[in-house]
Amino acid sequence: MATDVEIGARRIRVTNPATNELLREFEYASPGDVADAVRQARAAQPVWEQTSLEKRLKVVRKFQRLLSERKQQIARIITSESGKPYVEALLTEILVVLDTARFLLGESFEFLREQPVRHGSLATKTKSGRLLREQYGVIGIISPWNYPFSIPATQSLAALVTGNAVVLKPSELTPLSAFELASLLREAGVPENIFQLVPGDGPTGAALMESEIDKLVFTGSVATGKRLAQMAAGKLLPVVLELGGKDPMIVLEDADLDVAASGAVWGAFVNAGQACLSVERCYVHRSIYDSFVSLCTERAKQLRVGNGMDPETDVGPLIHDRQLRTVDRHIEDARDRGARVLAGGKRLPSRGPNFYAPTVLADVNHQMLVMREETFGPVLPIMAFDSEDEAIRLANDSEYGLAASVWTRDRKRGERIARQIKAGTVMVNDAVSCYGISEAPHGGIKASGIGRTHGKLGLDEMVRTKYVDVDLMPGTRKPWWYSYGSHVANAAEAFLDFQFASKLRRRLIGGNRSIPLISRRKL
Ligand code: NAD
Repeated sequence: MATDVEIGARRIRVTNPATNELLREFEYASPGDVADAVRQARAAQPVWEQTSLEKRLKVVRKFQRLLSERKQQIARIITSESGKPYVEALLTEILVVLDTARFLLGESFEFLREQPVRHGSLATKTKSGRLLREQYGVIGIISPWNYPFSIPATQSLAALVTGNAVVLKPSELTPLSAFELASLLREAGVPENIFQLVPGDGPTGAALMESEIDKLVFTGSVATGKRLAQMAAGKLLPVVLELGGKDPMIVLEDADLDVAASGAVWGAFVNAGQACLSVERCYVHRSIYDSFVSLCTERAKQLRVGNGMDPETDVGPLIHDRQLRTVDRHIEDARDRGARVLAGGKRLPSRGPNFYAPTVLADVNHQMLVMREETFGPVLPIMAFDSEDEAIRLANDSEYGLAASVWTRDRKRGERIARQIKAGTVMVNDAVSCYGISEAPHGGIKASGIGRTHGKLGLDEMVRTKYVDVDLMPGTRKPWWYSYGSHVANAAEAFLDFQFASKLRRRLIGGNRSIPLISRRKL
């Protein structure tokens, strides 16, 4: 096994999945350590909350500068523990985080500003309402191994900027990137107890869930997400769940074939297919199916598989043997059910312990595991369709609903189809890259999760909204107070007519007859 974690033991061994080289070994946090971290975070948070937004943003600015200066060092750490190519560590991890900082620096003031709430009802015109956004307190974050820097960093920055403390439990497979995040935040000025790291595995995550956090932001598998949702229900703890996907790509007959084939190959094989937004199912119009399949096959065969540290590498290793076993199982099942394996379809032990050849499958169908379950590996299964309706039906025939893409030269058609696809995000003529758009919300529907991260909707998940209402006539008793009686009932009926009767005459009469509601003696 490439990245070896001794579950149940006191020590985590982090290894490089490309070589099995031991990178670091350390003790994981015990349930007591987790509870202490949350307690300390809770005690420190009120001061952070009171720190002006200007000062909190100064910390974000410094964090951004430090990260930009240390991008090479941090990208190498990400590559060494996750296996992804160095270029991807720069573009899909560090760039995403630098840009999130830019977004927060530009948007946080506006987002946290109090908003007036205008009242439409005549009965409440003498009141002034405002919406406040207040921090939760302590946000627990549990993150996966596939984007070990950008996922915890973007979520932590959003939580911190809004005045929360954060306790982060990174994946046991890739904690070194999270250590880098912690030291950058500390150096940028985040107080020690305001951002804390509790390294460990599943039980450590469960301990965080059981602790006194105010909200949980979880990113990971559907199975773990469901388990955590059940625990959260018992405490009525608010959660954001960013879970798995089985993202469809629809290639219409008028798509730019060359561009769509390159998009499919990158979308399926980026991070060796271990991206929640990977292209996991590809549907192509029958009229262009053969040409599209040949182009993808040709390009998949040209990809250079190797150690991510080599700048020439396009596709790195998978994270560990368990992931390879899932890919093996899906390919075997597809082969048995009649799929054609046109590229790859096998492990590459000569490259190292966890390598799998970029695989193109043709003639797949929805009975096959590869079209139903999340593969999370370098596999591009391609299926033909005959009509637009069929393509939409196939795309929606999944328990997942994270993202999807539609490829066409007709923008309007692309947007029309996008509206019919059941997913959190639909891209027209691109895939996966929506994660790098800091303004765009990220999250799914159906089994892909609950809630959003990124963008303003992601910031919204980090705050409680409070409505404050101030009466502008404090010296008057309100018309709806005691005491009641038939004359009050008559005046109330008239007041309803005054506002909502369909006939003008009735409204005018209602206005006149509702005056006693205001002028009567009140208790
Ligand atoms: P996982 O569910 O095995 O683990 C995720 C995290 O949860 C890890 O930190 C793990 O230690 C922790 N964990 C495991 N069991 C736990 C428990 N009982 N209680 C609390 N914490 C527990 O997932 P993974 O294999 O690390 O990640 C891959 C999955 O994540 C894929 O399904 C992928 O699609 C999904 N993912 C989703 C998104 C998204 O934004 N929607 C992004 C990245 C990955």
